[in-house]
Amino acid sequence: MALDIRTVGIIGAGQMGNGIAHVCAAAGLDVRLNDRDPDRIGAGLAAIEGNLTRQVQKGTLTEEQSRSAMGRIVTARGFSDLEACDLVIEAATEDEATKRQIFQALCPTLRPDTLVATNTSSISITRLAASTDRPERFIGIHFMNPVPLMQLVELIRGIATEDPTYEAAKHFIAKLGKISTMSEDFPAFIVNRILLPMINEAIYTLYEGVGSVESIDTAMKLGANHPMGPLQLADFIGLDTCLSVMQVLYEGLADSKYRPCPLLVKYVEAGWLGRKTKRGFYDYRGETPVPTR
Ligand code: NAD
Repeated sequence: MALDIRTVGIIGAGQMGNGIAHVCAAAGLDVRLNDRDPDRIGAGLAAIEGNLTRQVQKGTLTEEQSRSAMGRIVTARGFSDLEACDLVIEAATEDEATKRQIFQALCPTLRPDTLVATNTSSISITRLAASTDRPERFIGIHFMNPVPLMQLVELIRGIATEDPTYEAAKHFIAKLGKISTMSEDFPAFIVNRILLPMINEAIYTLYEGVGSVESIDTAMKLGANHPMGPLQLADFIGLDTCLSVMQVLYEGLADSKYRPCPLLVKYVEAGWLGRKTKRGFYDYRGETPVPTR
């Protein structure tokens, strides 16, 4: 029988972790939110409160629903505070070594039947599962950004993921009011396998001087009917995450067509990671974003 998920632990309170906490709490689930940096938890809780308030203003949530959602999110100072969870979702930095260390430290603190998931954008689910004590109860649950607004969640089974784990994850996503798709465990799965090479190509287009930041984004918004330009979207995702996904595609598929653009590497080396650091292909420090090239 598939496990009924009522309490969810979330590791990483960045833009994805706080979004996942938001939708879980709004769906009536109890949430334990952890981050290695206590300031990030504070910032995450403030972001959730702001986003819930916006939903109240739009009329999609009542004051009471927003207040009780906020009340269901509790800070987990260490992994031992995640003991009561039915499911723990790792949403920490896109770095395989970081994620492996988290799973090794986390698993001994959990009940044997607790499911463990990763929100990775690209890293092999099978390989991450192997760093846990429960590969059969491990799955990829890949939310899209911004979590409260995006309908899709990709579910990715590792080689050892058992059917009840997949069924429990599917029910959990339905409970959140979202639609799930199933992807096989290959580098970057479906959405990012297609999306990130497009973004990387947009950065090459800038690098080679084919167009300016503004021309490239306007061309794709008005010419391909995309709601955001690819460079604007790259800043939104985070340039560090974009680079990590391209590296996983390049190494995992051993095809030069996935080589990360040197200009993307340069921005990441500069610490210009997009919106989260207030500078990327656009500068967000003023009232309106200004292209940086
Ligand atoms: P982020 O940089 O906003 O947040 C990452 C958080 O992880 C930080 O708060 C950091 O302090 C925390 N962290 C790092 N190491 C930790 C550890 N050992 N223990 C606890 N916390 C730790 O990144 P993000 O954009 O929220 O991405 C998180 C994950 O979600 C990544 O795997 C990313 O690939 C994936 N993802 C991102 C997007 C996107 O558009 N940004 C979309 C889907 C999935």
